[in-house]
Amino acid sequence: MNKKQKKLLIRILAAAVLYIPLFLLAEGVIEADIHPALLFALFLVPYLICGYDVLWKAIQGIKNRKPFDEHFLMTIATIGAIVLGQYPESVAVMLLYQVGELFQSYAVGKSRRNISELMDIRPDYANIEGDGGQLERVEPDEVETGSIIVVQPGEKVPIDGIVVEGNSSVNTAALTGESMLRDVGPDSEVLSGMINTSGVLKIRTTAEFEESTASKILDLVENAASRKANAENFISKFARVYTPVVVYSALALGILVPVVCMFTGLGNYASVADIWRDWLLRACTFLVISCPCAVVISIPLSFFAGLGGAGSQGILIKGSNYLELLAKVKTIAFDKTGTITKGNFAVAGVHHSPVEEEKILEYAALAECHSSHPISLSLQKAYGKNVDQTRVTEVKEISGYGVEAVIDGSVHVAVGNDRLMRRTGVEPVACHHIGTVIHVAVDGQYAGHILITDELKEHSREAMAELKKAGVEKEVMLTGDIEKVASSVAEEVGLTDYRAGLLPADKVTVVEELLKENEGTGKKVAFVGDGINDAPVLARADIGIAMGALGSDAAIEAADVVLMNDDPLKISQGIRISQKCLHIVHQNIVFTMTVKIACLILGALGIANMWVAILADVGVMILAVLNAIRCLFVKKI
Ligand code: ADP
Ligand code: MG
Repeated sequence: MNKKQKKLLIRILAAAVLYIPLFLLAEGVIEADIHPALLFALFLVPYLICGYDVLWKAIQGIKNRKPFDEHFLMTIATIGAIVLGQYPESVAVMLLYQVGELFQSYAVGKSRRNISELMDIRPDYANIEGDGGQLERVEPDEVETGSIIVVQPGEKVPIDGIVVEGNSSVNTAALTGESMLRDVGPDSEVLSGMINTSGVLKIRTTAEFEESTASKILDLVENAASRKANAENFISKFARVYTPVVVYSALALGILVPVVCMFTGLGNYASVADIWRDWLLRACTFLVISCPCAVVISIPLSFFAGLGGAGSQGILIKGSNYLELLAKVKTIAFDKTGTITKGNFAVAGVHHSPVEEEKILEYAALAECHSSHPISLSLQKAYGKNVDQTRVTEVKEISGYGVEAVIDGSVHVAVGNDRLMRRTGVEPVACHHIGTVIHVAVDGQYAGHILITDELKEHSREAMAELKKAGVEKEVMLTGDIEKVASSVAEEVGLTDYRAGLLPADKVTVVEELLKENEGTGKKVAFVGDGINDAPVLARADIGIAMGALGSDAAIEAADVVLMNDDPLKISQGIRISQKCLHIVHQNIVFTMTVKIACLILGALGIANMWVAILADVGVMILAVLNAIRCLFVKKI
């Protein structure tokens, strides 16, 4: 509990202690002869102790010409009750209203803390080595790029960097939501938020603290709640209309109805004063019930908790609006390489080469040396030797085709698919094995092809089945690879459809077709990719999901949902979290509105008195907030 909450608690307790004897006195349980004016003055004390800030805020609201808020409702309702001589009720309303406020602010604070605990990645300090070799603790944001920092076993890596000395394993759990150890040694990249488990590491920082992974992720999660979901926008619009309507209805109830009763003799009232008393009291009760805080607070809280719960699983959703969209995804388009398959190609063979294999691999590895495409990385790994980048000039990477480059200043090399060969005017030789075929042309002559094969990710098949269970109707793979590879992958993982031979721009067209198919149905289309050459598709789909984003800024920028690790099961988990969250939001809207409307009617009919009103109001709010907090708890996979 923070200071403000403690202060409110003390005020509530003090007011309650004063209130109880007064209540017993007023109800005649304690018999004493007390002057009505004195009783009034005595009740005023607890009323003001617990409610002065509500009155103050209501006055401020009127001053700012925005009077219609819950403070205003509470103020006129309680003052009205006092004027009508209902002292115990009036003070009770104020007291319970404040109990509700306290509970609310405690719950919000608690879920905020929970989220930062769940995402336990904020580094508190960095160690730098002093002149005498002793370690010095400094604020992480004081460390300049290129400094050497020391991370001891058990400590969090505070800033992104490259290991210069030491060997250890780092745990990525806080970033990916999955406890996984990664071995690091000299030259390995480490990211802030990882936890060093065994050896001492000396790290040269490659970014400033604010630009480091941990800071970026925290920013993203903290700002996510500011992008409002439709449900939230609806609620704030609704509150803007609702409160004035309620106030005018209360006015009608408290003024119009008694006037009508007076002139028509409706209702068997003994006197005119009785008519006014009865209806004014009903109007006050009506106002107490009408307070919309349960809905107004529980909806944003649900989304906030949902975003936090997802974040703790390594699923970063960039806004409540995306959480809402994710719940409605019925069609998913997937990239193949790096999304469904591992993107770790192994060379299965080199065919039709007039020169030796080694030479072809060397040319390929050289030409690819600037590309970050999984194919490039695999070819370089297969080549196995260090690539001398100075031998390579005029590199041109053509997305969806391959690369062209000049080697040793004179040899023109093209490495890519059959489309690239035709573009360069070379007739490729077809390969009859199943696998991705990388053709190589040297100086305009066909020089053979490298057959590379990829593996499915461990959970790809299971992930597709889980998605269907989560309500996804259509799973389409979009790939630039050849038909043969695409069909075998599609069959193995159980996709509903696939398209092969697509250029990055064609993928956009296909996604647009899918969007059109679903237009007006409320069903949403998602695209899942790894962020390498598919940023335009990520942006075009209703919702773009980037996976394996740990350490890839491009993917984090382009996508709406970022999966920190590359497990495809995370997609269905994300969808389930958002569905649960949305379900809870709807539950809360329906539940609170039903109780409210029922109580409003009972209040207007004079059946529900002020006691019922306030209990209904606080009770509903507490239940709604507790329900909202359920969003924070997500099933692990
Ligand atoms: P995917 O849809 O599987 O992610 P891409 O659109 O990234 O595939 O690439 C499609 C095809 O283009 C690859 O299968 C490959 O034949 C060719 N290609 C793309 N980039 C490269 C590269 N850097 N080197 C060689 N071939 C490439
Ligand atoms: Mg790709």
